Amino acid sequence: MDWVSIVVAFSLLIAACGSEETVQEDGTGTEDEAGTDEEVDVHDENDEGLTITTSFSILGDMISQVIGDRGTVEYIVPIGDEPHEYEPVPSDFQKVSDADVFYVNGLDLEEWLESILTNVTETEIVAISEGVTAIPLEGGDEDDPHAWLSVKNAILYVENLVDDLIKRDPDGESVYRENADAYITQLEELDTWIEEEVVEIPEEKRVIVVSENAFKYFGADYGFETEGVWDINSHAEGTPQQVSRIVDLVNDLELPAVFVETTVNQDFMEQVSNETNVPIAGEVYTDAVGPEGSGAETYIEMMQHNVNVFVEGLK
Ligand SMILES: [Zn+2]
Repeated sequence: MDWVSIVVAFSLLIAACGSEETVQEDGTGTEDEAGTDEEVDVHDENDEGLTITTSFSILGDMISQVIGDRGTVEYIVPIGDEPHEYEPVPSDFQKVSDADVFYVNGLDLEEWLESILTNVTETEIVAISEGVTAIPLEGGDEDDPHAWLSVKNAILYVENLVDDLIKRDPDGESVYRENADAYITQLEELDTWIEEEVVEIPEEKRVIVVSENAFKYFGADYGFETEGVWDINSHAEGTPQQVSRIVDLVNDLELPAVFVETTVNQDFMEQVSNETNVPIAGEVYTDAVGPEGSGAETYIEMMQHNVNVFVEGLK
């Protein structure tokens, strides 16, 4: 992929959008009343509160819980897609350049996105995983970015968010603190609930096998071994050797179930399931919340869903 062309194309696009807005503003005489009102709102940033853009839906939900009515939150990677290798579309660049801040996970999850976006926007990029104790990827040279799958880390994310939001919007301090405190209480309850639920799974069966080994942080918190056909989506995916390693492992450990993610090609786990006769006990959420109607539209709901699927499959 030619990043230079993309950056140039999107710079032109943003410039074009900017001048179009100016034309509309000057020509309000021809617009109907509703249209005129909207134009005025768009240019009156104080009324709108903070405009936040973030990289993917899980962070989008966490930020929404804290910001409440004091701003708007958009995310880049659509639900169903994964954030490791997502290729931005033109509207994504607009979302970032229009924002007061672009919140990312960090731990190199959105490296691809930052590297192209920083060329076309002045918007500040803030990583909200700051302070997380990173777990390394296989080989040890890089960190695993999936820190949000630990509820304890999610609480740290929220604390980082509150600090940053207050810096940007000091008048909102009491609102942000109140929202964050309420949300952190819910997260602490979730953490306790998970600890209680996983007790149902015999210790020797506490092994999570999925396509991408994304549950390392979750596993460290709640006493699970975790395995993936591959270690991370941005690396090699689903070679025959990777699949046969997992097939052997599932057979050796006599696991009652394996799992598959909502954001990953499911063929590989189906192959593992076929070759081992071990069922896929259900879909789990790692890199995105669920779509509307899934019952997993929020971070808390997706974690509850995952735990229910793990317990049902492995107990
Ligand atoms: Zn992932």
